[in-house]
Amino acid sequence: MLGDPSSSAILPRVVIVGAGFGGLWAAKALANAPVEVTIIDRENHHLFQPLLYQVATAALSPADVAAPIRGIVGAYRNITVMLGDVCGVDVAARAVLIAGGRRVPYDYLILATGARHAYFGHDDWEPFAPGLKRIEDATEIRRRILIAFERAENETDPDERRLLMNLLIVGGGPTGVELAGAIAELARRALAKDFRNIDPRDTRIILVEAGPWLLPSMPEDLSEEALQRLQRLGVEVRLGAAVTAVDASGVTIGTARLDARTVIWAAGVAASPAGQWIGAKCDRAGRIEVNPDLTVPDHPEIFAIGDTALMLDAAGRPLPGVAPVAKQQGRYVGSLIKTRLHSAERIEPFSYRNYGNLATIGRKAAVIDFGWIRLRGFVAWLIWMVAHVYFLIGFRNRIIVALNWLWAYFTFQRGARLITGPFRRFDIR
Ligand SMILES: Cc1cc2nc3c(=O)[nH]c(=O)nc-3n(C[C@H](O)[C@H](O)[C@H](O)COP(=O)(O)OP(=O)(O)OC[C@H]3O[C@@H](n4cnc5c(N)ncnc54)[C@H](O)[C@@H]3O)c2cc1C
Repeated sequence: MLGDPSSSAILPRVVIVGAGFGGLWAAKALANAPVEVTIIDRENHHLFQPLLYQVATAALSPADVAAPIRGIVGAYRNITVMLGDVCGVDVAARAVLIAGGRRVPYDYLILATGARHAYFGHDDWEPFAPGLKRIEDATEIRRRILIAFERAENETDPDERRLLMNLLIVGGGPTGVELAGAIAELARRALAKDFRNIDPRDTRIILVEAGPWLLPSMPEDLSEEALQRLQRLGVEVRLGAAVTAVDASGVTIGTARLDARTVIWAAGVAASPAGQWIGAKCDRAGRIEVNPDLTVPDHPEIFAIGDTALMLDAAGRPLPGVAPVAKQQGRYVGSLIKTRLHSAERIEPFSYRNYGNLATIGRKAAVIDFGWIRLRGFVAWLIWMVAHVYFLIGFRNRIIVALNWLWAYFTFQRGARLITGPFRRFDIR
């Protein structure tokens, strides 16, 4: 029976919740293994989040950075895809609970539900400062940015026009830095000649970071490089500035005020509620504290991986919430389950191999920390580009993204400048 997934005998059931980097890589590791795999996700697509900021800034379209989950795993006969919003786990009965009442039984459960942006206990800031995590977030941010220019073009009150042309980003990590650089180039290049009453080059782009430097996970010299590159693009960077309030006309930093009609949130993240579903011990960010083999304490049949898990490295620091961690953990758990099927052999604990840390700043500069060497500028940007095209899922997406970038590089144009989503009467006056 083992090794023949077409056998009619009952096979162990592996349920994977989440088809992000972790879940998908776990599923691929179990492809054609003697197990029945069910992937449950509330979206029908896998999303390549590292390029989401390019959708938010009109450089790429949603379909360029996403691929249907069924299309990715459709060739593997032992993998079933289920669209569903998981709302809990019946740990005692070993079943995943889906909103609407469905139950999906499991022998092994892999929780790979990722994280979402968090507002440090101020969820009321979200309507004024959307974060970037899902496709809907990216198209909403794109809509707000483009609408701000449209409204400024029609605005006769100079104060309101100034407010509309202030764009503010909270959070100086990779997402904030990448957004700030991309918005600067959108305003100063792609939109420069398109308006008659305003000059988009006058847009004030402000990046606010609570800590003392940008890109806190990078070495200091690369953080400094990112700061200088952004300043050269005309981005105003405020370091050591912790936001204390957000409203419809900007942010408050202590007693100071920064006015902007468009505010984007690229600061905190919190894990999915998966830890609550299984009553597991979690850290302050909601990440499940896992064993060295990524099982949940007291539950050898439940694994947590990726952004929703907390694992420490050899120095006692949490592994970062990045795609390579999730992928390597997914692959590890898939192999571990396969090994457990036919032997009681002890498996080495998971260990993360860090191949490098990178961030891009605008259309032709990036910083990369490979550990043994640090790169910056154009060469780093070329490596960043090749790596992202290579890691994108789907041949079509790779071609389209590469062509889009080539086009944008030579023409400075942004092909996806569409205002979509629900039109509200107050959007345009
Ligand atoms: C804007 C942005 C930019 C980033 N840039 C980079 C980068 O440049 N490099 C890098 O390495 N990392 C980057 N990251 C981080 C990286 O994307 C994450 O670390 C990685 O996606 C984590 O993988 P995961 O599998 O844990 O979760 P995810 O990839 O987030 O996948 C979670 C999946 O679970 C599904 N899900 C969640 N809750 C439920 C539920 N209740 N029911 C059903 N399905 C559910 C979601 O729909 C999703 O498909 C970025 C993240 C963001 C948001």
